This record gives sequence, C-alpha cells and structure tokens, in this order.
Amino acid sequence: MSDQRLDMPDARPTVSIVVPAFNEAGNVAVLYRRIADVLASSWQWELILIDDGSADDTFERIQDLARQDPRVIGLSLARNFGHQYALLAGLDVARGEAIISMDADLQHPPELLPELLRHWQDGANVVMTERLPAGQLPWWKVWTSNQFYRLFSALTGVRMEAGDSDFRLLDAEVLDRLRQVDRTHLFMRGLVRWAGYHAARVPYSVAQRHSGRSSYSLGRMMRLGVTGITAFSSAPLRAGIGLGVFTAALAAMEFAYALWTKMTGKPVQGWVSLVGLITALFSMNFLLIGMIGVYIGRVFEKVQGRPPYLVEQSTDDAMRLTTRAAARARRQRALPEPPPA
Ligand code: UDP
Ligand code: MG
Repeated sequence: MSDQRLDMPDARPTVSIVVPAFNEAGNVAVLYRRIADVLASSWQWELILIDDGSADDTFERIQDLARQDPRVIGLSLARNFGHQYALLAGLDVARGEAIISMDADLQHPPELLPELLRHWQDGANVVMTERLPAGQLPWWKVWTSNQFYRLFSALTGVRMEAGDSDFRLLDAEVLDRLRQVDRTHLFMRGLVRWAGYHAARVPYSVAQRHSGRSSYSLGRMMRLGVTGITAFSSAPLRAGIGLGVFTAALAAMEFAYALWTKMTGKPVQGWVSLVGLITALFSMNFLLIGMIGVYIGRVFEKVQGRPPYLVEQSTDDAMRLTTRAAARARRQRALPEPPPA
C-alpha cells in the first residue's frame, strides 16, 4: 500500500494536513471522513496523523485508515512527547505545497479547510485562524489564553492576538524555514507570529470536542506558556534589576526611619512587619533564582542535543526517516526505472 502511494504519477500532494493525536481513538476516523468529504476530489491531499504515545488504541485506528486509504500516513512516537513535538514530527514528513495543522478532536472544523486554501491560492504564505470567543470552550481557557497572549506580546515584542492557535496553513517554503529555527523549545504559534509572514486570518467558532477529554490541563498550559516566553524573550532574566532597585529604596527608607526613631528616643516596634519584609524579599530572591534556572535549563537541554521526538512506527515503511529532504529522496528512488534502451 505504501508503494501504491509512492508509485502515483505525481506523488507530491498539494495539501498536507498534519494532526497530532493523543488518546483520540474515538476521533480519528470521524476526522478523516470529514476531511475527505470536504476536500473531496478538488485537491490532492495527504493526512498525516501522529500518535503521540497514546494509552488507547489511537494508532490501531490510524493504521485502519492507512490500510483503507493510501493518502493517510500514520506515525507513532516512542512516547508522549507533547503536542508541539508531535506536530513537529508531522511537519517534518509533510510533503505538500501547503501544510495545514489542526487538532484531532474536531474542535477545529474541517469545513474551514477550503477557505484556508483559497487564501493560499490568492497568494498568502501564512493563513492564520481566529478562534471566536463565542465557541464551545470553557471560559477559563479563553481568559487564560487571552491574558497569556497579552503578557507574551508585552514581554517579547512579538504580537500575538486573542484566538491564535496551531490551526493554520503554512506555505511549504515558509515551513521549511521555520522548521530549522528552534526544535528543542518549540512554541510554534509564537514562531509563526515572530516570522511575521501572516497575511490572512480566518475566523471560526470552536466546536465541542467530539470524543474523549482535553489533555491540556492548566499545568500543561502554563508549561507551554513558560516555554513560549523564554523562547522569545530574556526580559524575565532582567527583572531582578528593577526589583533590586525597588527593594534597595525600601531598605534606605527603613534605615532612615530607624535612625529617626533612635534620635527621638522611641525604639522601633514590630517584629511582625520585619518578618513579613524578610519573607517578601526572600520570595523575590527565590523567584529570580527560579527564572535564571529556567534559562540555564534551556541552555542545558540545547547542549544535550537530544532529538525533539522519536518515531517508533510508521504506517509507511519508506517514512522511517523523518525529514522532508529524506522523504523527497525516497520519492526519487521510488520512481519507476527507465525502460532499457
Ligand atoms: N495532543 C498531543 N499530545 C499531547 C496533548 C495533546 O498530541 O500530549 C493533541 C490532542 O490529541 C489534540 C491537540 O493536541 O489533537 C489539542 O489537545 P487538546 O484537545 O487536549 O487541548 P485543548 O483543545 O483542550 O486545548
Ligand atoms: Mg481540543
């Protein structure tokens, strides 16, 4: 079946749809059906589903789809590497001229794909989507995400907008450039904004998750937030300077006050406020040490040079190597031999 795909006269599809899936066994077949219906025969497409170390039988369901339809390619990562890296694994093997990334749980409506493609055909290299606030999303997710994008924009100077997500279309050339940038600490949606190509933005209402549960807990969202900010700004490292100036001014005022009470013969009272002050100062210290730790940790991880993800299995044997260049080389090799002279 894999040969069938590679032997197609023009093996390069126009559109790649890349979908990371973690415990999405109940969703992948419905997603495939809806994408197949909406793109029908108007586009040459491939659907790349990446099983991010699921505990359910997501990969078995992906294998079923790949058996039925050679346009479906499944990768299974060696463990759960997280959404951003599962996404990267898919982007690395995508061969389309336009690459669309979206979620597996049908919160991103496949019916929007033709519109994204229309903007691309009209010349946009990046087509972003805008999640409208009225969709089916818990209020705290909308609120935390909006506040985070504000903080991110203020700290990094890279402007993110409310409603940004990883549901978007990238032209293959733009993707090729972005894939080289930062593979260890990936915050793809910030990277796309940083690159600045954005030319079009399509609004949509986020749908209810089709089946299963969200795996982006508040803790996970915060980790992604810290990754995002530290990937784009060193401002938190300098926060200590401002705080230091502030606390030094406080200390000077305290000394002046202590001196004054001594001179007027009224001894300083109030151990409680002193303890409070010490605790406050220590907490700032710990916070700043922690921030420095985050950056040192990033350098440490970079120096280790581990790959951002590992692929364990693929529905396509020829897909074992996971770079676009390798995929292209394999396609060349798979071309039929020229007839003997
Ligand atoms: N996902 C993933 N790896 C993870 C967590 C999530 O590949 O470790 C995928 C998940 O299957 C879905 C997308 O990332 O396709 C978004 O995750 P989810 O729906 O849980 O997040 P939410 O939409 O609630 O923010
Ligand atoms: Mg979701």
